[in-house]
Amino acid sequence: MKALSLKRLTKHYGDKVQALNGIDLEVEEGEFFGLLGPNGAGKSTAIGIISSLVTKTSGTAQVFGYDIDQEPWQAKSLLGLVPQEFNFNNFETVEQIVLNQAGYYGIPRKEARQRAERHLKALDLWNKRHAISRTLSGGMKRRLMIARALIHDPKLLILDEPTAGVDIELRRSLWQFLRTINEQGTTIILTTHYLEEAETLCKNIAIIDQGRIIEHTDVKTLLKKL
Ligand code: ADP
Ligand code: ADP
Repeated sequence: MKALSLKRLTKHYGDKVQALNGIDLEVEEGEFFGLLGPNGAGKSTAIGIISSLVTKTSGTAQVFGYDIDQEPWQAKSLLGLVPQEFNFNNFETVEQIVLNQAGYYGIPRKEARQRAERHLKALDLWNKRHAISRTLSGGMKRRLMIARALIHDPKLLILDEPTAGVDIELRRSLWQFLRTINEQGTTIILTTHYLEEAETLCKNIAIIDQGRIIEHTDVKTLLKKL
């Protein structure tokens, strides 16, 4: 089963910027996949399209076989997104933010509370559940974004530069957390511009540059070439 399938995906912003120039990409269920590339390569745009936050210009995108245009709700319900920028309400508590997301997916209240507890504990945020989000440290906000993205138990978790700007200790603990949920069955796609991150976590990677995939290989083969 393909967790993700992109075919001839293009995105133009206005007349001038061609952010994606016909991307073909397949990611198998269960993979821990890295999308690498320099700033401005098109990584966030690709992720935005897959998550229905950015409209594509042309091409197709499928999540576990569900076309994001034809069956948007099925595609969305199988996918969790951890964006790069913090985008939650600054004045809500940690627990409210996670429960609101559960409401969006129609998860019953009791079930939502159980899941929130499970994810907040796994991310070491349970004792912060009543804290107002704006009072959290950067590392805690990052973990809150992950807890929120997992509330509907998505089969595919997509993270945009999950460890950008975090200290080494938190980076290691996030890596360990992501490895664990991948081993438990969640397919993971992350973007990064750290080769070390991809090397540590990912088996297969694609390198995107100027809106094109210039390499799609396993990490070991890539490292031999460098
Ligand atoms: P990456 O995530 O790899 O850094 P992006 O997908 O953010 O790359 O950007 C790809 C290209 O599209 C860049 O040239 C960027 O400036 C441009 N771009 C991204 N978002 C917008 C936008 N909302 N409007 C115009 N141009 C954009
Ligand atoms: P700060 O940004 O102020 O250093 P953090 O929120 O990054 O605070 O981390 C607070 C504590 O929680 C640190 O001791 C860190 O090692 C620990 N921690 C961070 N992430 C995790 C995690 N995923 N699992 C367990 N412990 C974590």
